[in-house]
Amino acid sequence: MRVLKFGGSSVANPERIKSVIDILKEKKKGGEIFTVVFSAFGGITDTLIKASQLAAEGNLAYKEVFNEIKERHVNAAKILTDKSAIEEIYSNHEDLESLLQGVFLIKEVSDRTMDHVLSFGERNSNYIISKALQKEGINAQYLDARKIILTNDQFGNAKVNFEASNSQIVNYYKDLEAIQIVTGFVASSADGSTSTLGRGGSDYTAAILGAALNAEAIEIWTDVDGVLTANPKLVKKAFSLKSLTYTEAMEMSHFGAKVIYAPTIHPALQKEIPLYIRNTFKPQFPGTIISKEKDTESTNVVKGISAVNEISLMTLQGNGMVGVPGIAARLFGALSDAGINIILITQASSEQSISFATSTDDADLAKSIVDQKFEFEINAKRIDPLVRVDDLSIVAIIGENMKAFPGIAGKLFQILGKNGINVVAIAQGSSELNISFVVKKHDVAKAQNAIHDVFFLSENRQLNLFIVGVGLIGGTLIEQIKDQRKYLKDRNKLEINICGLANSRKMLFSIDGLNVESWNKDLDGGEQMNLETYIEKMKSMNLSNSVFIDNTANDQVSPYYKNILDASISISTPNKSAASSTYENYLALKSLAAKRNVQFMYEANVGAGLPIISTLNDLISSGDEILKIEGVLSGSLSYVFNNFTQDQSFSDVVKKAKELGYTEPDPREDLSGLDVRRKIVILARETGIPMEKEDVIINGILPEECLNAKDVDDFFETLESNDGIFSDLIKTADQKNEKLRMVAILEDGKARIGLESVDVNHPFYNLSGSDNMLVFTTKRYNERPLVIVGPGAGAQVTAAGVFAEIIRIGNYLS
Ligand code: ADP
Ligand code: ASP
Ligand code: MG
Repeated sequence: MRVLKFGGSSVANPERIKSVIDILKEKKKGGEIFTVVFSAFGGITDTLIKASQLAAEGNLAYKEVFNEIKERHVNAAKILTDKSAIEEIYSNHEDLESLLQGVFLIKEVSDRTMDHVLSFGERNSNYIISKALQKEGINAQYLDARKIILTNDQFGNAKVNFEASNSQIVNYYKDLEAIQIVTGFVASSADGSTSTLGRGGSDYTAAILGAALNAEAIEIWTDVDGVLTANPKLVKKAFSLKSLTYTEAMEMSHFGAKVIYAPTIHPALQKEIPLYIRNTFKPQFPGTIISKEKDTESTNVVKGISAVNEISLMTLQGNGMVGVPGIAARLFGALSDAGINIILITQASSEQSISFATSTDDADLAKSIVDQKFEFEINAKRIDPLVRVDDLSIVAIIGENMKAFPGIAGKLFQILGKNGINVVAIAQGSSELNISFVVKKHDVAKAQNAIHDVFFLSENRQLNLFIVGVGLIGGTLIEQIKDQRKYLKDRNKLEINICGLANSRKMLFSIDGLNVESWNKDLDGGEQMNLETYIEKMKSMNLSNSVFIDNTANDQVSPYYKNILDASISISTPNKSAASSTYENYLALKSLAAKRNVQFMYEANVGAGLPIISTLNDLISSGDEILKIEGVLSGSLSYVFNNFTQDQSFSDVVKKAKELGYTEPDPREDLSGLDVRRKIVILARETGIPMEKEDVIINGILPEECLNAKDVDDFFETLESNDGIFSDLIKTADQKNEKLRMVAILEDGKARIGLESVDVNHPFYNLSGSDNMLVFTTKRYNERPLVIVGPGAGAQVTAAGVFAEIIRIGNYLS
């Protein structure tokens, strides 16, 4: 005999019930002997709770909810059974309606009444399915489990009286021919009232039957491929486990893996009956087997990750606890007497505090009980009133093999730290079967993903990129990633996935990484771009080691940086908008990144791919002192002045620079010095100077009339008429054997930008092309300053700068 159980989602609608019937027919054909437990139709238990609560509030809307329930049952009965079933269904709903009306009249719903109401879910579903099977020619019989499973009167979560239940079950099943279709979840108390076994309790019903009948197996059929490494709703990369031991399964379910209701394991374990977790929608898939056998095939030390939400952490502390025996016993004794379930306990070795976690539902009661219990000590100020913190979750990693492997905890907490997740409390069971810890609820999904990546996915570190902007720089970056991915994977064990991509029109996501060969075409077929949705999607994917890359040239993305960093996602950007915004905003972003333990990087803001900001940071953090920074910081201006000679007019050189794409479409943006100003402000800030853009003195080179010209053509006309000024400048420079350079200087906390004439000994003298050059005079690089020089513009080098930065972030994170 096998006991099968199908959950709510497996029987959520008549179509699905038909698939279940097909599975049963197959089994029957194969000669299997079985009994089947069904849950209520998916969602019905919640709807019954809602109807009762509305009725208890005196809200007539309960009737609509009731009608919804009735309609689902009647509809299923009509589709799946012949007429005889419908009558019984109507009659059932008349009973339910009177019950709800009673609740409405007395405006109260006791746990006892609630259980009675809830039983209608399982009773109707099982009745309908038994009739549907009969219609298919299967000898099936409806069995109301209240006849065979007996409990105490702890309604809502009743405890099973195994002795009485087992003998009832055995008696009932003696010499039965028909396949029993058994209501899950419901039972009856000693006085014959309807009780229930706790939410998710149909699994338990199956195990109780299985153990009583000495079944050869218990099969739990649900909507996923078995027990997965983590909750697939939160960890998209979770995969199904071939096998688990009873103890591992118990820990997983105790810590929130809803796929099996925790008490289910016990009866199976006692009789050593294997439990199979199978997918109703993929009957050919073997699923997970839970038995006493340890998994010898899997190389994973950690078997699963799970989490419980709505947790409160309570701490009892005070000097009066040190060295006083019996405090813990009094504390936990009082909590246990009140029926409060303690999920986790930690005690500081100083004995000055004990922390424990409970469900938030129990927190009010726990606090009042403990404060009462220690009233004397609290009044005497030897112990503080119980401290309570809400909005927490517990995450547990589970696996029997963990005890044989040192360093698991280290790896675990390191990855959490690198993802900016703060651990509020830690506990490790003495069996070393599980390590559990408390985090803020808002970190729980991220924590599980980060742990999953490090313990389950290949030995490679993963870096998950979310790119916005696929123009010249963004597109080049993706091509560079494409070419370099294999090398990074082989040599650096770093796996780069592009998990989100967007241009101004479309956006595209993939949890496992987009196809870098066809991204362009794929993006065209993406969904419509909306920046807010993009960011929310990125956050909801909860991938660890995520990096957001703003490759746009506009100011629209940077207002979201705070939101992104706050979600523990690093940012890398060549866009200067954020780092050159107000000093206050710059600082806020930096400190938020530090708080969340992620990176906010913008190396390509100054000098494109040249390592300028990182060098500056390295100098400062190694204790050097920056005395002066001089820079030719604009590739456009560099080109213009490197090519300007006496035999050409200045306006012709600018025109040529524009034609070759070295300047902005309106060259005034470069020539006015505004772009250089943003760069020198960023450099100043990196050295610790709270500089605003307005603080920079620009000694402009353009006459007013050029700056005020109404459009670009007009600008060139006015520039031509002013060519004389520039010819004079170059002539004078030539006479002194000097060169003209547009230079930004930071010295004594002040910054200025202007045209300088430099002699042959100056590093700027030999600049060529569109090179940038940075000269750092520091305490250590004093006589001979540190010089960085190279092309400071262009898609290839800028994208390479962003790419290098992404890899640096990857090295920080994992
Ligand atoms: P049923 O209605 O069949 O009883 P449940 O909703 O109670 O199904 O349980 C199945 C669900 O449990 C899955 O859809 C999944 O969302 C959730 N779940 C949580 N953790 C895990 C896990 N580790 N493995 C599989 N499923 C899990
Ligand atoms: N129908 C009940 C519930 O939703 C029992 C079960 O599905 O296992 O909790
Ligand atoms: Mg369930």
